[in-house]
Amino acid sequence: MAIATNLGFSRIGPNRELKKAVETYWAGKSSPEDLLKSAAAIRKANWQIQADAGIEHIPSGDFSFYDHVVDTAFDFDLIPQRFRNEAPENDLDLYFLMARGLAGGRQTQALEMTKWFDTNYHYLVPEIERGQAFHLARNRSVEQFKEAAQLGYAARPVILGPLSLLLLSKSTYTSDSLNLLDRALAAYEELLQRLSAAGANWVQIDEPVLVLDLNRETIQRELPRCYERLAASTPGIRILLATYFGSLKETLDVALRLPVGGLHLDLVRGRDQFEEALRVAPPSLTLSLGLIDGRSIWKSNLTRALELAEKAADAISSDRIMIAPSCSLLHVPVDLAEEDALPSEVREWLAFGRQKLEEVSLITKALNHGRQAVSDQLDQNARSLALRGSSHLIFNSAVRARVAAIAPSDLSRKSRYAVRKKEQEAALHLPPLPTTTIGSFPQTEQLRRERLRARNGVIGQAAYEGFLKKEIEYAIRQQEEIGLDVLVHGEAERSDMVEYFGELLQGFAFTKNGWVQSYGSRCVKPPIIYGDVSRKSPMTVDWWRFAQSLTARPVKGMLTGPVTILQWSFVRDDQPRRDTCLQLALAIRDEVLDLERAGCKIIQIDEPALREGLPLRGVDAPGYLSWAVDSFKLATTGVQDGTQIHTHMCYANFNDIIEAIAAMDADVISLESARSRMELLQAFVRSRYPNDLGPGVYDIHSPRIPEEGEIKGLLRRALEVIPTEQLWVNPDCGLKTRRWEEVSPALKNMVAAARSLRSVQPWSTNRT
Ligand code: GLN
Ligand code: ZN
Repeated sequence: MAIATNLGFSRIGPNRELKKAVETYWAGKSSPEDLLKSAAAIRKANWQIQADAGIEHIPSGDFSFYDHVVDTAFDFDLIPQRFRNEAPENDLDLYFLMARGLAGGRQTQALEMTKWFDTNYHYLVPEIERGQAFHLARNRSVEQFKEAAQLGYAARPVILGPLSLLLLSKSTYTSDSLNLLDRALAAYEELLQRLSAAGANWVQIDEPVLVLDLNRETIQRELPRCYERLAASTPGIRILLATYFGSLKETLDVALRLPVGGLHLDLVRGRDQFEEALRVAPPSLTLSLGLIDGRSIWKSNLTRALELAEKAADAISSDRIMIAPSCSLLHVPVDLAEEDALPSEVREWLAFGRQKLEEVSLITKALNHGRQAVSDQLDQNARSLALRGSSHLIFNSAVRARVAAIAPSDLSRKSRYAVRKKEQEAALHLPPLPTTTIGSFPQTEQLRRERLRARNGVIGQAAYEGFLKKEIEYAIRQQEEIGLDVLVHGEAERSDMVEYFGELLQGFAFTKNGWVQSYGSRCVKPPIIYGDVSRKSPMTVDWWRFAQSLTARPVKGMLTGPVTILQWSFVRDDQPRRDTCLQLALAIRDEVLDLERAGCKIIQIDEPALREGLPLRGVDAPGYLSWAVDSFKLATTGVQDGTQIHTHMCYANFNDIIEAIAAMDADVISLESARSRMELLQAFVRSRYPNDLGPGVYDIHSPRIPEEGEIKGLLRRALEVIPTEQLWVNPDCGLKTRRWEEVSPALKNMVAAARSLRSVQPWSTNRT
């Protein structure tokens, strides 16, 4: 009989209980015991949801107070000395100190945070120091397994595997963190033995790094060595080696021959692995088929998934099959049931975590008892998909015709940069080293309160707009007083740079409670793009016009770019992402042109998420970058030469995409670079990036107010490698999370720094 399984579940709780519990604890308003109790309640609720959905192998140990990578590091005592030195009172605070750099009254630099593969979830990067111990120091995994057992769930413990843990870590003393592998294996062996003693039969070991481009020899050597050793160490345990987010490709062959009990394959993103897996898997190996997309919020095509499952059953017998989501359900919201505000037609097309598990059970049931056992549900699913496919909500023939008619001339500016630069200089009369900001200004308590009151209908739209206008006016006056050259309206009307546009565009839907974890207690509620995207009417022009009416200095028009809107939404799966992105680009293009017609001379289109869309495998990068760049160009190149296009990006490391950035051909790009002390500029210098550049001169993530001298120092560093004529002066990113008391003095220092350098720099206007 095939088994219905799950790899991992959302940890935030159906109503973000985790967020409330940890934030209360961090604020010192609850005890460690309270927090542990809340966590146990979330785990219990999660196990119950999964059992109710018919899952037999329910994961344990997938819960986390912050992030599962740091959990694993913590269990194995990978704790850098600076945290130990602080000696917090309890283990929980030591853990939060690593995660946040702040806990139990102690403070030190937190672990670095980075993206978990190509998801929007972030993990903390473990640090490996010289002489690093690696031993099983904590019993979290065993305890959670026992906790499940006591509640009556025979759970399958999940642990992050040794290869992934080490390869995702950074070492402060050697370039090869796999040096620690032998010590790691000994500790993992002990963990398996303890789990076995506690009664576990199957243990899921996650090795998602196997879908990355890895050194082939290393993997051919170390992968078998690891799993031969682990499998031999604890005969009572069957290891399920789990891979996800892509295909194993060249590693599949080795993985299929490992002496483990089972191998999980992501058959949504790695469908290419299916046939070989059936052909090569030895009789001792169970295959866990990741058939249900754990990364999307769409209902599956159950008939198609079932066909694969049946094929597998024919080839290797259903006794050797597990049915599963493609990856952990950490990346989708918990439950669709409460979403009564979604358009009912759209709601019919969706499946969140709980619903995805029901799909897993259904396929398992069909496999074990025949299609007739679930024929009603299969029919219903087919009907629902057919309705979605033919819904008038999805199609907009005008948009499709426009996408089909995109011509190469729509993707480039009228003239080359040097020509545009002259026209823009003539139109704008900016001083050398012009100063500006990235767009948003502080979103005050009061602003948030008024927004909420407007949403709840406590105040009318007109009153709310009046309030926003006052905010904009305040921002303009502040900027004039600070002495900035290019102003912004401050984005007071936007609570989120993607949601704001999504709400004004056709083809988007919004959930009430569709939260997913971004990192720690931070959750996001991505919009759902379900249909062809189009713009009903101008979205930002009135706000811009109002702001510009208040000042003689130029006010930038501010838009979010198509790639970023795509990247931070749940995207429809019935057409290539590229097509959806081009539709978004057309909508933004129309907005850009409307702003220009209204008299806007500088328009900024933010693309902070461009880099994070990069595929996991290098071979797939050029394809992505090509349509991502095209989308940006489609959005921006319709303007006249004299209109200045800005863009902004804020994730480190531009080295690997510098050519794509150059191809975007924005007149000015602002970048996060203060934290790296302008190191990030190197990529631009090396590639002789030709257009204007605004490397951030101070870190906006910190409340600290930078001194004029410090900013001047950074600017001088930039001027050593970038000609004066090319350089802009701006902070690292938007200022919405800061307070005016921090922002005004910081920007005054920034303006003073720019002015003082202007007076000493030999300034020439003829650039070559
Ligand atoms: N214009 C946006 C802001 O200032 C840019 C934010 C971002 O880069 N994430 O808030
Ligand atoms: Zn930014």
